[in-house]
Amino acid sequence: MTFGAGMTYQQMLPILEQYYPEFAKLFARTASPQIRNMGTLGGNIDNASPIGDLPPILLALETRIHLRHCSPNDRDVNGEDDSAKDESNEHNKTSYVDELIPLAEFFIDYKKTKLRAGSYIVAIHMPLMQDNQHLFIHKISKRYEDDISACLFAASLVLSADGATIKQAKIGLGGMAATPLLAKHCQQALIGMPVDMASFEKAAKALAKDVSPLTDVRASREYRMHVAQRLLIKCGKQLTAARLAKREPSGAIILAFLTATVFAAYVRLKTKSAPPPSMIVR
Ligand SMILES: Cc1cc2nc3c(=O)[nH]c(=O)nc-3n(C[C@H](O)[C@H](O)[C@H](O)COP(=O)(O)OP(=O)(O)OC[C@H]3O[C@@H](n4cnc5c(N)ncnc54)[C@H](O)[C@@H]3O)c2cc1C
Repeated sequence: MTFGAGMTYQQMLPILEQYYPEFAKLFARTASPQIRNMGTLGGNIDNASPIGDLPPILLALETRIHLRHCSPNDRDVNGEDDSAKDESNEHNKTSYVDELIPLAEFFIDYKKTKLRAGSYIVAIHMPLMQDNQHLFIHKISKRYEDDISACLFAASLVLSADGATIKQAKIGLGGMAATPLLAKHCQQALIGMPVDMASFEKAAKALAKDVSPLTDVRASREYRMHVAQRLLIKCGKQLTAARLAKREPSGAIILAFLTATVFAAYVRLKTKSAPPPSMIVR
């Protein structure tokens, strides 16, 4: 799915509702209606704020970003040289180079990105959700709306066809470091593990290797770490509960089958051991 960088949150919303419903729900918690009508996808990414809501989710979804690098040398950028405006002169034509990179490579350091002078974000490419992919997004802030995240937690987990094993894991975090980031140790701890609480509790401990959050007016470092770990464990609870709920009907079928088999055997036994009607002594 390709989103133009100039799309406002409000313009993105109907598409997200259809293709990424969990993501769409976040917009009820992002800024306010006024900002959602004005704020753009490209602006939110280029801001490179460690507390922007969208980047951690886009990271978890393995988004790629289309950059265009224009060459300012081919133009008189200050407009002082009139000859530079002559488009018929090949030398004056603006040249550009397009680049498609994983969003994870875009954020370099606090408010530093891969963009250089003359570059801009053209579009964002988001893979469509797979059949066994589960997306979890939690925004922790003091107010419900129009508030900055103390922690933005986004987990994208792809399970095996039977739902028993974690095949892929991407954990995007905001508000936890100088840039939005993927929690690589935590992801590694989840991949290949069974979908049970032990796997998620172990992976939650690994989060401490990925980030060392700061204390500020929104939350203490201990709170941030604790809440991110608990949110990961919550994903585990939701997935295991969903698995059990799926298994219950088949459990009921097995129980019904066993009951029917035992009953049939009992009837057969009774019929075999019962004397023929003529021998029944009254
Ligand atoms: C009151 C308020 C509340 C907010 N609450 C939240 C919130 O809860 N969650 C959240 O995530 N954000 C929040 N924000 C931030 C908001 O969502 C926008 O991300 C931010 O205001 C940027 O706005 P914009 O998209 O209009 O970009 P601009 O202000 O137009 O641009 C921001 C920067 O990005 C650059 N830029 C814009 N587009 C591109 C492009 N295509 N390529 C390269 N560079 C580009 C600009 O040059 C500029 O440097 C809030 C903002 C306000 C004012």
